[in-house]
This record gives sequence, C-alpha cells and structure tokens, in this order.
Amino acid sequence: MNNKPDSIFLKAAIWRALLVLCLLALAYYVVTDLSSNSGETQDGSTGYVEQVTPEEIVLDMFDKQIATTTTNSPIPRTTTVTYWIEPGGYMAEISSKETHRRLREALKELEDVCNVRFTEIQKERSARVRFYFKPQNQIKYGALGLAYTTRGYIELNNTRKVGLTRRWSRVCQSVVQHEMLHMLWTPLHSQRTTSVMHGGNVVDYFDKKDVTNLHLVFGRNTNGRTFRPFTLGKAGTLLRESTARYNKLWEDRERLIQERDSSTDKVYRTAKQMEILDNLILIIAEIPTMVSHARDWFGVDLYWRFTYGYVNN
Ligand SMILES: [Zn+2]
Repeated sequence: MNNKPDSIFLKAAIWRALLVLCLLALAYYVVTDLSSNSGETQDGSTGYVEQVTPEEIVLDMFDKQIATTTTNSPIPRTTTVTYWIEPGGYMAEISSKETHRRLREALKELEDVCNVRFTEIQKERSARVRFYFKPQNQIKYGALGLAYTTRGYIELNNTRKVGLTRRWSRVCQSVVQHEMLHMLWTPLHSQRTTSVMHGGNVVDYFDKKDVTNLHLVFGRNTNGRTFRPFTLGKAGTLLRESTARYNKLWEDRERLIQERDSSTDKVYRTAKQMEILDNLILIIAEIPTMVSHARDWFGVDLYWRFTYGYVNN
C-alpha cells in the first residue's frame, strides 16, 4: 500500500542526483575550458605557444578592450617605433641573415596593414624594442617568443625546431608580429583561433578582425604601399615566372621551326630538328611546374577571398 509514495520519492531523489551530476560536469567543463585560454603572466611578460598553468587564468577581453580604447580616444597619429636586433642572432633551422630578413619583413607587413612605422637602429640601449635570441632552456615556458613589455625587449627561441625551412613557413614572421603587438598594444590574447594574437596558434597571417582592430588602434596605413597578403604575392610571382618561361619556350620553338624551314641544307635541317626536340622536352617539363604554381595560386587566392575578404586585383 505505501509502495507508491516511496517509489515517487525514490524517483525524485534519482532525478535530483542526476541533475547535480550534470551541473558538476558542466561546471568542470567551463572551468577547464576557461583555463586553457590564456598564457599571460603576472609580471607583464607574455608567452607565445607557451605552456599554461592554472593560476594564469585571464578571461579574453580582447575585442571588448579594443571597443573601449577606441571609442574614448581619437585615432592616434603615426606611431614610430625604433628597434634593434641582436647581431648574429638566429632562430633554429635558418641562418642569422635569413632570421633578420624575416623579422624585418614581419614588421614591414605591420606597416602595410596599419599606421605604425618601424626604424631599425644600431644602438642597443636607445631602441624602444630589442630582439634577443635565446636557447630553449633559457626561455620561459620554452616559448617560441616572449615579450617583456615593461622592460622593452622580446626574446626569440633559437633552438626549437618548428619547420622554418618548410616552404612558405610563416612561423618566424607570425611570432615576431604577435610579440611586437604585445609590446605596442595589449598584453591579452584573442580567443579567435585565426587571430595573430591567439595564445597557442601560430597563424599564417592577420585575420580580417585583426586588420580591423589594427586599423582602430593604430589607424589605417598611409605609407602608400598597398596591402598585399604575402603568400598571394609569392604565389603570383612564382606563377608569372613559370608562365613567362613557358611562353618564352614556345617563342623559341617558333623561331627554331622558321630557321629549319628557311634552309634546304639537309645537315642544317637535321641539326635544327634536334634543337626543336630539345626545346619540346623543356616545354613538356615546364608544364607540371606551371600547373602546380597555378594550383597554389588558386588555393591561396581562395583562402584570402573567403577567410579574409581580400580580393586580388
Ligand atoms: Zn602572447
């Protein structure tokens, strides 16, 4: 007779227990999710591709911060930043010369996107930003790059191998841009995985929102150089070069055929015929190169069109 109320109580208790379990799981999920999102440290230094420890939880206020800084202050005039690079310094896998070249290229790209200017100087102590290169075990978290914003220097990792020799690797440039933006702009990271300011990803380039943010913070680029995504420029150059070689070979072929046909001397004609065949082999060899450059170009072009909205003219 009293079975019924009992079972109702039991059912209610089970449901309550289930609900509590769900809430606990949700809470756990939220906490772990948030803690995976930051790499900022207490002393103002910031890491890149660094390990994250639980006490370094910082909520991502990145885009909100942009909104407040830009509505309260007018767009700044050109910011000029002096920098110094440690002579002989390098990143793993590439030479010092190539490292310095990529570093300068990274800063030039920032100039092309927004109204910030960089001047390289030789006097270490008077530079606004100094670049040092350190081995993995002497760099905090073993990070690829680290910005010491209050002390005015950036450390780059010179032992960690991340594929800098890979075709079109942008790791060096991306890390330099990331750390430089910590120096000049914000200690925070973005939650967008496509952002150059993401705490864990090394992206290829600024995403669309990055460019908007950079315009808001530094103003638009006024240096006259038009912004052109690096990879697109490179893919275009390779394709143009290959196409030019291919067209040239066809012109050579036309000329050789004319030369052959203009003579009635059998020996001369035979020699020319051999040249024509050699030329044909070169034409055939150039085709796959050109096709692969074309495929690269279309791929890169599509990438910029859809993820960035950049239309190549
Ligand atoms: Zn960072």
